[in-house]
Amino acid sequence: MTKKPKHIKFVDIKKKLVKDDVSQSVLKNNKFSYLPHEGSSDLTPGEFKTFWYFWETITNIANFYGFDRIAFPIIEKPEIYLYGLGKETDLVNKEMQYIKTGKNGLVLRPKGTASAIRLVLNTGLLKNKDIVKLFYSGPFFRKEKGNIREFNQTGFEIIGVKNAICDVELINTIDKILQELNLDNFYFEINSQGCKNCLKDYLKQLEKYFKSKKAMLCPSCKKHLENKNILQILQCTKEKCQALLIDAPHIQDSLCQDCKKNYTDLVKYLKSLNIPFKESPFIFRDIKYYTSNIFNVYLHDELIGQGGRYDNLLEVFGANKRPASGIAINSEKILSLMNVVKEIKKPSLFLIQLGDSAKEKSFEILETLRKNDLLTATSLSKGSIKEQMKIAKDLNIEHVLIIGQEEANREEIIFHELTSGLQETIPFKKLINILNKRLKK
Ligand SMILES: [Zn+2]
Ligand SMILES: [Zn+2]
Repeated sequence: MTKKPKHIKFVDIKKKLVKDDVSQSVLKNNKFSYLPHEGSSDLTPGEFKTFWYFWETITNIANFYGFDRIAFPIIEKPEIYLYGLGKETDLVNKEMQYIKTGKNGLVLRPKGTASAIRLVLNTGLLKNKDIVKLFYSGPFFRKEKGNIREFNQTGFEIIGVKNAICDVELINTIDKILQELNLDNFYFEINSQGCKNCLKDYLKQLEKYFKSKKAMLCPSCKKHLENKNILQILQCTKEKCQALLIDAPHIQDSLCQDCKKNYTDLVKYLKSLNIPFKESPFIFRDIKYYTSNIFNVYLHDELIGQGGRYDNLLEVFGANKRPASGIAINSEKILSLMNVVKEIKKPSLFLIQLGDSAKEKSFEILETLRKNDLLTATSLSKGSIKEQMKIAKDLNIEHVLIIGQEEANREEIIFHELTSGLQETIPFKKLINILNKRLKK
């Protein structure tokens, strides 16, 4: 018997449950819905197959391009976002879900990059290395309209490369994933948001421009102008504000030499790789760590991914400055558009067992088959040969192994081919050898 941890008093928890506001209202409500909470979803076995295939594709391509998998906690310390993303950003201010626990509280991770960099610094991954390429995947959480949205995201990060070549490598990796998943109608959108210096210059120009057009701005954009939130005006969807963008200055004219080279190189490389992209001079991020090249991914005109350079983040975290770039894609939209569901590897054998000692022996045989990469299905709970044979047929499996009491005693097994009716008895010792020959067609 396991001991109760000393610090938890079970009686107290019970009392608290009744006292607690949320618990009380739930209990009072007296309703039980099978739906998961709004903003999250279940996956059926069929949906999970698609998800798994999606996963395998990502992993294969990530491995091919030399990205190493990492994983960090779902619950994180708030400071990594407060410092990394900036406390004035919408993501930190409005979308991050705090959990009230401990002195400073914890948060449900809203985004991957800051956690990935924390992990890199915590585990010393950069020690004696010029370049580190990582990827990760899993659930992330954002507050939205009073709910917590749970979504799956896969992120790729390259730390240590200053040149735009690593931005292209990230975009190319996503391009190959989407292609491999047979998805079309996707494209990338790129812009530069400059470094601190060129962005400052650009904001001045932009402010000057909008001041000259102030009368034509919508009321909320007028407020943005007064509060010097100039970039917010670019996001306004009102027609009259959008119309003003036609003559608005572009950041490309304000970029310093480094930022300019980064951007023109990105354009050049993307063209040479035939990656579909368009230049969008008015996309910007309000997240503090982004610098220079930034990019969005669109699938059927819906935003499915975002990325960009974050050359200052390591420094913000108190480490030596290292250039870095990353991109992340959301799974849900991609999964909803994946029409071609490729089956994950199907079993090529079905093991039928009859009687108790045969059942016992079956575990050993299954283990040997598994170790030798011979995927085998079985149904240990079903009794008769007829029932088990039916399952094999339903699964479209052509080759059947049968073991009964007698065979178990003699250390033998029957190999049976359903279509041809071919049948032979094989000693356990020779099973793998013979199966490899019989199944190789
Ligand atoms: Zn610059
Ligand atoms: Zn507006």
